[in-house]
Amino acid sequence: MKYRSTRNDVDHSELSPAAAVIQGLAPDGGLYVPAVFPKASWQLAELTKLSYQDLAAKVLALFFPDLSSQQIKAVVKNAYGQQWDDPKIAPLVKAGRNFYLELFHGPTLAFKDIALQALPQLMTRSVTIENRHRQIVILTATSGDTGTASMRGFSDQAGTQVFVFYPHGGVSPVQLRQMLSQRGHNLQAFAIKGNFDDAQTEVKRIFNDQTFKGKLADQGCQFSSANSMNIGRLLPQIVYYFYAYGQLVNQNEIKLGDQVNFAVPTGNFGDILAGYYAEKLGLPIRKLICASDANNVLTDFFHTGTYNRQRPFYLTNSPAMDILVSSNLERLLFDLDQANWQEIKSWMTALQTQGHYQVNQTVFHQLQDLFVSGFATQKQVKQEIHQLHQETGYVIDPHTAVGSFVTRQYQAQTSDPTPTVINATASPYKFPETVYSAITGQAVASKGLPAVKQLHALLGGELKQGVKALFANPPRPEKVITRSEMESVISQDLHLK
Ligand SMILES: *Cc1c(COP(=O)(O)O)cnc(C)c1O
Repeated sequence: MKYRSTRNDVDHSELSPAAAVIQGLAPDGGLYVPAVFPKASWQLAELTKLSYQDLAAKVLALFFPDLSSQQIKAVVKNAYGQQWDDPKIAPLVKAGRNFYLELFHGPTLAFKDIALQALPQLMTRSVTIENRHRQIVILTATSGDTGTASMRGFSDQAGTQVFVFYPHGGVSPVQLRQMLSQRGHNLQAFAIKGNFDDAQTEVKRIFNDQTFKGKLADQGCQFSSANSMNIGRLLPQIVYYFYAYGQLVNQNEIKLGDQVNFAVPTGNFGDILAGYYAEKLGLPIRKLICASDANNVLTDFFHTGTYNRQRPFYLTNSPAMDILVSSNLERLLFDLDQANWQEIKSWMTALQTQGHYQVNQTVFHQLQDLFVSGFATQKQVKQEIHQLHQETGYVIDPHTAVGSFVTRQYQAQTSDPTPTVINATASPYKFPETVYSAITGQAVASKGLPAVKQLHALLGGELKQGVKALFANPPRPEKVITRSEMESVISQDLHLK
């Protein structure tokens, strides 16, 4: 099992799973993917009987054969333990005719915990395997949720240093509070004057800056990434697709072998790509529903085959999806285009230089077989939260509402009767302002933590540990910098010459 870059010849980019996790991003700007996609020898029936942890061990073993089974067990035990407020890790809830896969029971209340509780475990073991006694410097661009989740995952992990960059004014009050109240000795968060794409582009640039990398190496340090560009972040997400399927079987909602749809609120395309990988591993998926917010570049892409980032950028009530360049789409295209890395490279270069590219007809037709797409405006997001609550009593966050809205629209248009799982990517308490006003028609009295209390007063019930934790540590002051200062703050903090 080897990995390779999406933008280079296999002979020139091949490396071990451990090295791919440490590197994060390929030096040619491409993303690491399996050189040959693994074939699973398991039976679907046996998977439906496994706990989340045992299922995770099976999936990870397939992609990380250089870890011993003892090591995999330890990864899974540490990643999916007491820090989760539900023993199922990812419980499935039926509301109306659809199913909601709750991926937000981890410490930071969003689905990124699923991957970011596992990635540090994989990374520290990879460092040992590769025998690199280097300090790993994690650079992360975040639209909100990755920031806290990676700080939380790497907090006080020996041999790691974490730098998080988020758009100033572009994250929710609760997300901001979470980032500013993390306490590990190895964690730093900076607000960038710009949007998420600015932060992500600069992180990618710093990552591949040879001079800077040289200085880091002199100091015994090496960059890595906790973004979903890192393959070690992506692969743990395959698990919950199988786990959702198992729950549908065990709750007698489907028979083994029946097809299901998954609807995924999409930003950087990591979550939905994991669904595509699950399908490649034999999960009977009929449609992957790619749901976008008002930044609907992917909706247009799936309809036309042209990816065009030249459009206005909107800050919406689903901030984790406010993205115009969905990095992980590159991995899907690479796979559908039969590993034609030259073509992938030319598309990605066109995206960078001209702002758009068009895929070929073969890729386009494959996309249309498996994917459908749609988007929800901010108003539709609030209506969806309101309507679902009215009809079923179930409360969803704005990101989940995007998936839920697009699903219902798709079902109305197509009459597709396939059982559909909507990935519920964040807790409603992470976005209390939008959820409260969607349900009541009234604005909250005050944003952030007071809004959490106000929403709780409305919904009742017991608060989960992740919500209670919001009130524990006081926040540190925000550090605001420009995009061009990102490199120097890293240099200063690591005392580079
Ligand atoms: C990150 C995030 C998304 C988008 O997921 P991608 O893997 O980037 O497509 C959706 N919802 C929430 C709540 C998120 O945090």
